[in-house]
Amino acid sequence: MNIDSIKNGIVIDHIVAGKGMEIYNLLGLREIDCPVAIIQNVASKKMGKKDIIKIDADIDIDIDVLGYVDPGATVNVIKDGSIIDKKKLILPEVLTNVVFCKNPRCITQTEQELDHVFKLADRETRVYRCLYCEAKAK
Ligand SMILES: [Zn+2]
Repeated sequence: MNIDSIKNGIVIDHIVAGKGMEIYNLLGLREIDCPVAIIQNVASKKMGKKDIIKIDADIDIDIDVLGYVDPGATVNVIKDGSIIDKKKLILPEVLTNVVFCKNPRCITQTEQELDHVFKLADRETRVYRCLYCEAKAK
């Protein structure tokens, strides 16, 4: 893949340097059957250093997950070689199976089939709490 010229796909730009791999894993990009490039420590005027992920396929990515991990990232949707859409990221109200409750007394520890659900408790400080036991997400 020529990483500079994606015809149809998604470019996630302005990722905080070092978070590219985490985002790659959380978005499940390992499982998709198309070219994906993670470019790390790219020089950026605004950020010093940044990571970029380029996905050379027209797929849907989980914007909520991205908004949780790195709300400052930008998502560009590329079609026929030009950007047709820039998606705004916001902190999602609810996270399902993105973070996992570590409280040993939480019901999710014994009820394995339960989804791990965290709700945004404070948008300012980006605090999420477990729906079942109120434990803070790390
Ligand atoms: Zn819990």
